[in-house]
Amino acid sequence: MSQHFVQVQQASKRFPQGRGQDDLTVFENVNFNLEKGEFVCIIGHSGCGKSTILNALAGLDQFTDGGLIMEGHEVKGPGLERGVVFQNYSLLPWLTALENVKFGVRARWKDWSKAKVDEHSREYLSMVGLDEVIDRKPSQLSGGMRQRVSIARTFATKPKLLLLDEPFGALDALTRGVIQDELIKIWGRDRQTVFMITHDVDEAILLADRILLMTNGPEARIAEAVEIDLPRPRSRAEVVKNPNY
Ligand code: ADP
Ligand code: MG
Repeated sequence: MSQHFVQVQQASKRFPQGRGQDDLTVFENVNFNLEKGEFVCIIGHSGCGKSTILNALAGLDQFTDGGLIMEGHEVKGPGLERGVVFQNYSLLPWLTALENVKFGVRARWKDWSKAKVDEHSREYLSMVGLDEVIDRKPSQLSGGMRQRVSIARTFATKPKLLLLDEPFGALDALTRGVIQDELIKIWGRDRQTVFMITHDVDEAILLADRILLMTNGPEARIAEAVEIDLPRPRSRAEVVKNPNY
């Protein structure tokens, strides 16, 4: 039996290159655990394999070797217990903000009444400050608003594991700061496990309980995930967990 919520064990990823070329090895023997309720950020240079790891955690891709174990069970393929937020929103353009959130909620709890789906969806949109614009379509929303809808949509389905791939990468610094606060607020409500990729070290320091760094291992270009302990003030995740600390 595993005592960790998620275990990534001896994970490697190779991409075939075709035309008789050697495979591209992105990383080898990556090991890390995620504990229940943790907010973990992973940082590392561009191309080191962060998105590849996140896609494997989401079940959208698989490691070439090694295992992904969730609550003691080997995981292959996607599942409702995992939710993803990407950098580019991926909202359904023909639906309003509210309808986008309701779409996911309805799929998650098929036995819920219309009124319950509506109330639940509005509650999550409200947490990210979108009360006023819930009837607008994505094309009528700013980039920041669209990303708030994506966050509300994913969090509203209450996945046990939330996977965020540079969710603020496309936003200006001011908007990013506001949405970081909203992300922590919405996370503070249900305290699911979050695994978030960022290229912004300051953001990781500000938000995360724990930071993983993808480093180049002994062989050049091959990354491994190591835990780093930066001297820093209390993270926002810590503040949410211990408000009276
Ligand atoms: P990061 O998110 O850390 O910037 P990625 O995980 O996106 O890095 O990519 C890691 C490496 O794997 C890069 O060199 C990238 O070009 C390569 N790669 C990613 N996806 C594929 C794919 N589907 N086919 C071939 N190579 C890929
Ligand atoms: Mg990436």
